[in-house]
Order: sequence, then C-alpha cells, then structure tokens
Amino acid sequence: MKIDFANLQHQYQLYKTEIDAAIQSVLNKSNYILGEEVDLLERELEAFSEAKHAIACSSGTDALLLAMMALDIEPGDEIITTPFTFIATAETIALMKAKPVFVDIQEDSFNIDPAKIEAAITPKTRAIMPVSLYGQTPDLDEIKAIADKHHLKLIIDGAQSFGATYKGKADSALGDISCTSFFPAKPLGCYGDGGAVFTNDSIIAEKMRMLRVHGQGQRYHHKYIGMGGRLDTLQAAVLLAKLPHYANEIKYRQQVAEAYNNNLSDHSELISPQIKPDRTSVWAQYTIRTSTREALQEKLQKAGVPTAVHYPKPLHRQECFEYLGYKDGDFPIAEKAAREVISLPMNAFLTADEISLITERLLH
Ligand SMILES: *Cc1c(COP(=O)(O)O)cnc(C)c1O
Repeated sequence: MKIDFANLQHQYQLYKTEIDAAIQSVLNKSNYILGEEVDLLERELEAFSEAKHAIACSSGTDALLLAMMALDIEPGDEIITTPFTFIATAETIALMKAKPVFVDIQEDSFNIDPAKIEAAITPKTRAIMPVSLYGQTPDLDEIKAIADKHHLKLIIDGAQSFGATYKGKADSALGDISCTSFFPAKPLGCYGDGGAVFTNDSIIAEKMRMLRVHGQGQRYHHKYIGMGGRLDTLQAAVLLAKLPHYANEIKYRQQVAEAYNNNLSDHSELISPQIKPDRTSVWAQYTIRTSTREALQEKLQKAGVPTAVHYPKPLHRQECFEYLGYKDGDFPIAEKAAREVISLPMNAFLTADEISLITERLLH
C-alpha cells in the first residue's frame, strides 16, 4: 500500500467528467481572462460562505496584498500577526512596507493568543491578521473585541480554512476582510494558483475588484495603484466543478481526523490536535505533537507513509525578518510547536485501512 498525502489524482479521477467538461468549455469559448466562470464562481463562493462579497484572485498571497491595499495600509504601519504560519502572512505585510508584529500562539490551537495581543498594540498598529492554522479558526470574538476597542481592522488569513465555521458562521464572513487560497493542496484547491478575498462591506469589495485589475474601474482609467491579481477563467472552471463536492469532502476530512484521534487517543506521548467546541475545522492538516519527531518521520518514511512539517522555523527566526530584531525565546510556544509538530497524510479519500496502517506504523 502506498499512501498519498493529499491524493489530488484520486480526486481528479472521481470528478473527471465534470472537470474535463468545465475546462473544455473554457477552451471552446477562449474566454481566458475574467470569463463568466469567474463571476459564477464568485456568486457560488458567496453562497457557500455567506460573505456578502467574494472576489476571486490570483493566489492566497495576492489576496492578502489586495486586503491590505484596500485598507490603505501604509509604510510604517504595524500589523499584528502570528509567528507560527506560512511565510506569506508576514511577507505580504513587509511587502506593503508595513511592519509585522508577532504575538505568540496558544499551545492547544496553534493560533494567535488573544490574551497577548493588547500588549503588542502601539499607536502605529493598524490591523490584526490572525491565521486559521491547519483549518481551524482562531478566537475571533476575543480578537474582534480587541480590534474594535482599539479601532483596528481585522484581516483573517483563512488560506487554510475555506469552509471552516466559528459559532456557526464561515470565517470568510467574519473579518473586515477575509482571505483564502485555492493552491492545489489547500482543502479546496484549483489546478494552479488561485485565491479569494471576502468582505461584507460593498465599498471595500468594489475597491478590491478594481485593485485586482490594476486599479481600474473603466478600461485604461486607473483610480488606484493596483496589481495584476485576477484568477484565470480556467481555474475558476475547475473550482466550479469541485465546489459542489466540497461540503462532502469537508465531512470526509472530519471523519478522517476523528479516526486518527480515536486511534491515537491512548498514547500520551503523541498529542492529537484540539478543535474548540464552538468551531469546526476543514483539516487543512492533521498535525500532532511529539518530542521525537525526527525518529517518527524516518520510521514513517521507511513504511511508505509521507509526512510533512508545517512549519519547522517560526517567522521571527527567519533570515528575511532579522531586521525586526526578534530573538530566540521571544515566542516560546511557537518555538516549541516548530520543534514538535508533524502532519500526517490528510485528504477526503483516506480509507479506514490506510488510517489504521498509518497509526499502526506511527505507534510501533
Ligand atoms: C498557503 C498559504 C498562504 C498563501 O497562499 P498561496 O495561494 O500559496 O499564495 C498564505 N497564508 C497561509 C497561512 C497559507 O497556508
């Protein structure tokens, strides 16, 4: 048995008829840029997430940029975020010439710790950018209360969490702006790069729509300095074909996580992921903690079980952020997580047998 981490090939074979037809239809029309599929997809994303406005864009990274551009983030502004995330979260803040200000995470959820945010706020703080790591939304009520109190914007990096809910609502609908990614290996992936921004504010939505196409409202009339940030029509077609299956896939991913949890529950040397009771995860990753990661990885690799480490080095220790002046020990919980986390294969199509084999190899 060979186990595939994300099993995109299996997924394609399952939906092949619909996906091939969707791609062929774009080829037949040759409407490659902002074709009607993009518009259709946006309406479907709005229906799925219950955000008032969804704007499809070129990647999750560009979604973060569009959000900050729309909120007029300026050089020197500070944005509070987590050091335990993918580089794009803080990289885009720095690209805006703003300053990423890190706040440590909670040990159980791996997400930013709201109790530590206020101490990081200065007169230059403009926004808080929490991340829904591994597919679970952070403590949004607490974060939003702090944002409101200090007149800060809330930008949710939901690149890993499209479809996750917090107190019954999709996290795409809960920020001033929420961003997601359709990178192939994310829970809802296209066949290349893609992303989306979401907001309930129609003025910000309109602005992001323009920013996505070089800041133009009307062709060759540029109201803003924008970017080339469109989603390809082909990618929209792929997503439109996959979206009707997505609710089921989320359910299957949750069942896979539950099966892992059950198999690992009696083993205190491995700490299973914790999902808070008022929210659901879309399980972008199934990530456990262990103090013997290297040995486990090697053992699993020999048994044909792929694993991954998201992320081995917290952002405040990255060379590119040396100029921020952080040092080892500044965010001990993120640093510990970076030493201990390991992600097991996760996709909607893992069978009970495969899950047993993986946990069997993990434990013996
Ligand atoms: C994947 C990811 C991004 C970037 O998305 P891309 O589509 O790859 O540009 C940003 N933030 C987080 C937390 C991510 O996991």
